Amino acid sequence: MKIVRDIKEMRQISKKERSKGNIIGFVPTMGYLHQGHISLAEKSVKECEITVMSIYVNPLQFGPQEDFLRYPRNLKKDMELAKKAGVDYLFVPNDSQMYPVPFLSAVEVNTISEGLCGKLRPGHFKGVATVVNKLFNIVEPDIAYFGQKDAQQAAIIKKMAFDLNMPVKIKVLPIVREKDGLAMSSRNTYLNQLERKDAVILYESLRKACSLIEKGERRSAVIAGQMKRLINKVESARISYIAIVDAEDLRELKIIKNNTLIAVAGFVGKVRLIDNIVIKIKNQKPKTKNQKPKIQVNKNDENNV
Ligand code: AMP
Repeated sequence: MKIVRDIKEMRQISKKERSKGNIIGFVPTMGYLHQGHISLAEKSVKECEITVMSIYVNPLQFGPQEDFLRYPRNLKKDMELAKKAGVDYLFVPNDSQMYPVPFLSAVEVNTISEGLCGKLRPGHFKGVATVVNKLFNIVEPDIAYFGQKDAQQAAIIKKMAFDLNMPVKIKVLPIVREKDGLAMSSRNTYLNQLERKDAVILYESLRKACSLIEKGERRSAVIAGQMKRLINKVESARISYIAIVDAEDLRELKIIKNNTLIAVAGFVGKVRLIDNIVIKIKNQKPKTKNQKPKIQVNKNDENNV
């Protein structure tokens, strides 16, 4: 695995690989790698001749009161993990190359950036869209891999790539979880022992939603209410939002339908966590008059464009 720190060098490498006819897979990350990131890299290694992973803690997507400076970093360990996953090039640019002063440009994806996390983190998705756009321009991947963990981010990147005719296929892969169900996240490292135990409540609230839907409940308000009740039982947990929306355009849904995203965000102690689930409901046609339609709730669907 080669470490590439220079933008120009990264571009030259990509051009060379492309000229050999190699398909380039790309996994953008902010580092402090865990199995969630690695699952994306492994998929790319499986599907593409060349895998580029980037590690860049993008200052543009952090608000002034957020954790940019203390965001966990461990490049040495990341290098080991990326190499083991089969990454060919680890792109690690620095701030002065990424954002030469003055930096005056930005990419915005309207509407779907405004709800959910966008409401709580003004400017966050503008920062995300801008850096991903820059990384796409530098790496020029054929396929880029993102995690369903950041469902709103994935929806925004897909829309950006579609709207702006970017020559890249966006693939969104399922959430990788700890044994107890907590979604893996670099920020889980901030949790103390008690908070770590409490943090699983977000996933449990999503499971509760699933079980209600499996029993036939379709009213979003009822489902959100039950989730709220469950989370509020945990003292260290504070809900930021529970959103029940269309998984693609993130429009609010009053009634659950096929391809509904249920997303939850909140704090456990001082740590901000997010999690979500996509509900797939398949109403199969009954074979006999008395047979009820079969409902399938698919909890972790792979969601490709
Ligand atoms: P980050 O380093 O947090 O910016 O994440 C880089 C990529 O990894 C994003 O596409 C995330 O959605 C994805 N990712 C983060 N956590 C997980 C997880 N638990 N499962 C799957 N993908 C993840």
